Amino acid sequence: MASLKPLDIYKLLPKKNCKECGDPTCLTFAMKLAGGKAQPDQCPYLDENAKAILGASTRPPIQKVKIGVGERSFTLGEEMVQYRHEKTFIHEPGIMTAIPDTMPGDRIKEITTDVRDYVLTRIGTDLRLNGIAIRCESGSPGEFSRAVEAVESVADLPEVLMSTDPVCMEAGLGVSGNYRPLIHAATHENYQEMCRLAKKFSCPLAIRADTLDSLADLSSKCATEGVSNLLLDLTSPSLHEVLNRTTAVRQHAVTRQTPALGYPVFLDCAQPGLEDAFLVTGVAKFGSVLVCNPLSQPVRKALLVLRQNIYTDPQKPIQITPGLYRIGSPGKDAPVLLSVNFSLTFFTLQGYLEASRVPSLMLVVDTEGLSVLTAVASGKLQEAMVKEAIAKFDLGNAVSHRKLIIPGYAAPLSGRIEDATGWKVLVGPRDAADIAEFLLQEWKP
Ligand code: SF4
Repeated sequence: MASLKPLDIYKLLPKKNCKECGDPTCLTFAMKLAGGKAQPDQCPYLDENAKAILGASTRPPIQKVKIGVGERSFTLGEEMVQYRHEKTFIHEPGIMTAIPDTMPGDRIKEITTDVRDYVLTRIGTDLRLNGIAIRCESGSPGEFSRAVEAVESVADLPEVLMSTDPVCMEAGLGVSGNYRPLIHAATHENYQEMCRLAKKFSCPLAIRADTLDSLADLSSKCATEGVSNLLLDLTSPSLHEVLNRTTAVRQHAVTRQTPALGYPVFLDCAQPGLEDAFLVTGVAKFGSVLVCNPLSQPVRKALLVLRQNIYTDPQKPIQITPGLYRIGSPGKDAPVLLSVNFSLTFFTLQGYLEASRVPSLMLVVDTEGLSVLTAVASGKLQEAMVKEAIAKFDLGNAVSHRKLIIPGYAAPLSGRIEDATGWKVLVGPRDAADIAEFLLQEWKP
């Protein structure tokens, strides 16, 4: 079913305007439903017909699928839009490092340990690789299960088991089936056996076919077998073809034209000479599971940062907790710098202060995640909250002076902050990169 427009939804509502859904009118509720910001069951007066229609219309057009169990498990699908500027993308793709089952056990453990432990902290968030894909290149059930055992001996990471041979797959699942690995791949030739295994071990299943029509046909067959936790393998040796396929599948899914294509996308990015390009394309254009060879440090960093940027909700800036933050070991005469709780602002200033080697204090106030310039322009940064923060975080006892350095972009507030707080205000630089020079030249407790 195609998504309904607000007025179409409104026609299905009881029009009591009783506010029990939490909205002032039925029309407001209809607009929220259309935008995916409310659920039909919030209205207690819907009749069965309206429930059925609205339920189908507001359900995410791409199936939710979970891979793995425990802390490192991850969820895919539930995407609602084609383009990130329409609404945020929901679940970032999982990056799965591939190892062949012919690799020596020690090397498998080494790579798995690296994937388990690698972390890149950026803007206060830990970015990680997601798991391991084990390729059955030996064709041997014994070799395959041995490789899965080697992975499992060092980490409880989500896994992709890759074989089109149901016998090998069952051997691998015999080791890791309780940990909900992704089974890859069912084809038109083996789907009944693979569906049997997916049901037996309650695992998601990736399906593969040459064309989108054939893939839609295969997903319908799997649904008939009782398996609907699917991923669509859209891998092709041609990057151009991959981009065309992922874009087409997302269009079919979000417009609900082809429900049989309403599943997350699997891409095997380990294509000779093109792996980095496949990975970037997969992150930017609708991939949900990306399989790749072990990545070099520069490539993995770039990829994780790209993924973080694309999957950060632009309507919800990353925020840090307001408070008094110490840089180094500040004494009673340390400078105090006012900042906002927009993470990018905070971590940028923190980085430059650390580099300056001047022990200092950052007084961070709650601007709802807005940057200094935006907070000043919108009135979210005001003298009253600075006064309140000074009292709340006991700044008067942390330092012996009464001087506050405010960001250059907050200069219009300097007089009002001074009057409200009684602290002498120094207007700092607009650019955090100039803070070391500023402290050197201007700071005297
Ligand atoms: S609860 Fe239902 S009837 Fe009442 S205002 Fe909300 S949508 Fe309208």
